[in-house]
Formats: sequence, structure tokens, C-alpha cells
Amino acid sequence: MTRIAFIGLGHMGGPMALNLVKAGFELQVFDLNPALAEPLVAAGACFAASAAAAVSEAGVVISMLPASPHVERLYLGDAAGGGVLPQARPGTLVIDCSTISPQSAQKVAAAALRQGLRMLDAPVSGGTAGAAAGTLTFMVGGEAADLELARPILSAMGRNLFHAGAQGAGQVAKICNNMVLGVQMLAVSEALALGVRQGLDAAVLSGIIAKSSGRGWVTELYNPWPGVMDNVPAARGYAGGFGADLMLKDLGLAVEAAIAARASVPMGGLARELFAQWSSSGHGALDFSSIVGLFAPPER
Ligand code: NAD
Repeated sequence: MTRIAFIGLGHMGGPMALNLVKAGFELQVFDLNPALAEPLVAAGACFAASAAAAVSEAGVVISMLPASPHVERLYLGDAAGGGVLPQARPGTLVIDCSTISPQSAQKVAAAALRQGLRMLDAPVSGGTAGAAAGTLTFMVGGEAADLELARPILSAMGRNLFHAGAQGAGQVAKICNNMVLGVQMLAVSEALALGVRQGLDAAVLSGIIAKSSGRGWVTELYNPWPGVMDNVPAARGYAGGFGADLMLKDLGLAVEAAIAARASVPMGGLARELFAQWSSSGHGALDFSSIVGLFAPPER
């Protein structure tokens, strides 16, 4: 079976890589923080000495890094050199699952294609719970034939695979999805705070919204109010999950894309401002549902 190099073992990459090991794939894993590889090595993966070492022996490379600069640095290097693309064997399939700008995805893909490699952008939705359960949604940009090659691998980590279009199209879809999510989290947060101020119980109100026309992913699966749901970041002081700084990054990508496309995104722009306030007041490392604290700081 094809050997997979998996680079970036954080909140998402760790559980995604573990699902590949469980499905029987041979994995070489790497993260700048070696401690994150321990559960994977215990499950049967090998820890590579460097990203370049992992890539040089792989038929498929998967990356799950924070943002565009990390992905460009990994694959293309910086002024001092050091990108890993030249280490890959011809024909290697490179799949970047990070959420980055469509322009960055296209730049890395163009470099990969020039070197005789295949490249897909395949950002995901579903959160850390979806990563652990293997139920992620993949939004894929690139050649349809390359998606077919990737299908058995992506299917071990996710349930829904969508071909959005050419290289970069997966990122466009992801940015639009996360703009909806950021706005929705703010809308649910301010509505719960309003209801609680007027004497409603947050769990009762959440249950009503979840079965009414205001329902959505946030009220059904990711409630921001502590004490309403188990197994969500709000139940553990907003630790883990999807960092507020990562949501701020994604809303920034949406606003940048809107400027480039001369589109109007007033809700996305306001959401970006509110997440910027939350982040600059020291909450960027908490899960993004902690934004409820802007309206009614819940007890932690
Ligand atoms: P994270 O910060 O937990 O993990 C990123 C990992 O990348 C870190 O462990 C870091 O050490 C590693 N890293 C950075 N540069 C590296 C390099 N050059 N070589 C090797 N390792 C390197 O982030 P995350 O929450 O796992 O998110 C990863 C991506 O997935 C982001 O683009 C995010 O927007 C997206 N995403 C996250 C969620 C979520 O719920 N957390 C959901 C969907 C999409």
C-alpha cells in the first residue's frame, strides 16, 4: 500500500492521521512539536526526522498546517530555501488539507505541477469531533482524476467528498462555509445572551431554537453556552476545538477574497471585526465558541 507522509499533527491533523493508521495505511508523520506524534507512533506510525525525510519516501503527502505562510514555507521554502517539493518523487500526490487563501493554494499547486507532481487542495469541515470520528467533509480543488486517486485515503478520514472545481476551488468553498459559521456563532451567542438576560434558561432556549427556524450546526452540535452540551469546547473552558485565531484568519481570507472579487460581505466583515476584538483581548487561543463572552461572559 502507498506510503503516506502526514505533516502537521495538531488538533485536526493528529486525529485525521490516527484514522489513516487505523484504516491500515503506512504512515510517516512529522510535526515541529514531536510530542504530538506520540499517540500515532503508539498506534503504529513512524516518526520522521524531518518533513523532507517523510516526503522523500512517500507516494502521497498530506499536510494540515495553520495558515498560508506555513504551507508556502513547507512546500516552497523561504529566502533561505528549504521547501520540501523538490524531495518528492515524480507523480507523488500532494494533498493540502489546511485552510489557506485560494491564491496560496494555486501558487503551491503550480509549483508542484511544474515538478511533475499532482496536487489537490482539500480543506475540511466538521471540527475536531468530525476529525476524531472520521466524518469530515472534504472540499476538493484540482483534477477530478487526482481526486479519484485520493478517494480511498480521504474516505478513511471523512464521509462527504465534494469536487469544487480546479486548484484553489476547495479553498473558496471552505472560506464561504466558514464565513457562514463565524456569523452563525455570533448570532447564536447574542441570541442566547439576550434570552438569558430576560430570564430564560440557556439549555431550554437552545432546545427551542434547535427545533425551530433558527436552527443550525451551532445550536445542534456546537453550543457556545457552558452547561448546555457535553463534549463541546464550552463544556471544558473552551480548550481544544477550533481556535478563535483560526476563525479570525478564515474571516480575513473571506474579506480578502471579497475585495479581490469586488463582492460585498458586510456580515463577514463585521464578524471579522468582532473576532479581532476577542483575539486582541487575549482570547485567541480559546475555541471560537468562546466569542459568546463578548455578550455575556459565561462562568468558566
Ligand atoms: P493546530 O495549530 O492545532 O495544528 C497545526 C500544527 O501544525 C501544529 O501542531 C504545528 O506544530 C504544526 N506545524 C506548523 N508548521 C509546521 C511545519 N512546517 N512542519 C510541521 N508541522 C508544522 O491547528 P488545527 O486546529 O489542527 O488546524 C489546522 C488547519 O485546519 C487550519 O488551517 C485550520 O483553519 C483548519 N481547520 C481547523 C478546524 C478545527 O476545528 N480545529 C476545523 C476545520 C479546519
